[in-house]
Amino acid sequence: MNKKILVTGGSGFLGSHLVEKLLARGDEVLCVDNFYTGTRRNVEHLIGHKRFELMRHDVCLPLYVEVDEIYNLACPASPIHYQYDPVQTTKTSVHGAINMLGLAKRVKAKILQASTSEVYGDPSVHPQPEGYWGNVNPIGIRSCYDEGKRCAETLFFDYWRQHQLRIKIVRIFNTYGPRMHPNDGRVVSNFIVQALKGEDITIYGDGQQTRSFCYSDDLVDAIMRMMDTADPVTGPVNIGNPHEFTIRQLANLVLELTGSRSKIVSRPLPQDDPLQRKPDITLAKELLDWSPSIELRQGLIKTIAYFDQLLKGEAEVPASLS
Ligand code: NAD
Ligand code: UDP
Ligand code: UDP
Repeated sequence: MNKKILVTGGSGFLGSHLVEKLLARGDEVLCVDNFYTGTRRNVEHLIGHKRFELMRHDVCLPLYVEVDEIYNLACPASPIHYQYDPVQTTKTSVHGAINMLGLAKRVKAKILQASTSEVYGDPSVHPQPEGYWGNVNPIGIRSCYDEGKRCAETLFFDYWRQHQLRIKIVRIFNTYGPRMHPNDGRVVSNFIVQALKGEDITIYGDGQQTRSFCYSDDLVDAIMRMMDTADPVTGPVNIGNPHEFTIRQLANLVLELTGSRSKIVSRPLPQDDPLQRKPDITLAKELLDWSPSIELRQGLIKTIAYFDQLLKGEAEVPASLS
């Protein structure tokens, strides 16, 4: 029998890729989204598919449906979007987790949380293993996201200890790919859109801060493997590509691959911007028999092709910025 799977945040960047892969595997998918940063366009090609249903709903409100598995991805992920309405960001992480955990408890569903490398804050341990507790400012401008996601992890573990829920937690490191919103504000989409439009490439700070970039297909493969692990496995498990780049290296690579003549310009480094980030993926390799297969150059070529196509049409403005 087909599994019935709920994907919250299913019309966002990662959610829409996940929904597609689940449908391709033969599952029934209920996609729940309030279109805060996601767009209907990301899933409109699936509307009419007999195993796909799209529901506009805010996870801060209770949801009564019958499902076997829940992937909880609903949450703005880009700093400019999650900082636009920070109270709503914490509510989405915390109330959203409570509601989805309550739902999982009632229907005895397995539930996976899309957590983040931001739980490590500005890390003093490098690379970051799952056992590192992090270095997080509880009252800064990133805290609505970081602490919201940390609290969601706490809730997941308390529902597991107290109600024996079947939980899975993945900590996702910077992931990019087609279907990121052109106004998303994260570094990969910003640089590509700027390069393709011939606008200045905006490096925040000196560009020596590092990130490790994972391509969306690799990420989705890993989180589906995580959901399918045997029940004693809860995570958290880091998912990401351990190849680390400075932001300046990324800018130069985007310029090379687009052939753009955009200039690189400096902008102030935002408060609490982590200086370095790189996942230790030893656990993911062991537990999931997974490691990323698409390197940055290859993934950027695919992503640039997507944005090139998109920019020839009109892009919608996400609800969080309209
Ligand atoms: P995204 O902004 O494209 O997707 C988030 C989706 O959640 C959007 O479709 C948005 O409309 C929806 N959403 C937001 N608030 C909601 C609410 N209250 N109710 C219902 N839907 C809501 O971002 P993404 O990159 O696809 O991120 C997906 C998940 O993965 C997020 O939880 C994010 O924190 C996590 N994550 C992503 C990355 C990354 O690099 N992409 C890294 C770490 C964690
Ligand atoms: N909930 C939901 N769907 C369900 C069951 C519960 O959205 O099918 C929500 C409901 O709002 C509830 C929350 O999940 O407040 C937590 O549920 P739980 O059973 O853990 O706690 P309680 O109902 O006692 O608050
Ligand atoms: N960044 C940048 N220029 C941009 C957007 C981002 O230099 O136009 C930097 C940002 O300051 C951070 C890194 O790129 O150091 C990654 O930022 P992003 O918002 O993609 O994700 P983060 O990992 O900070 O959540």
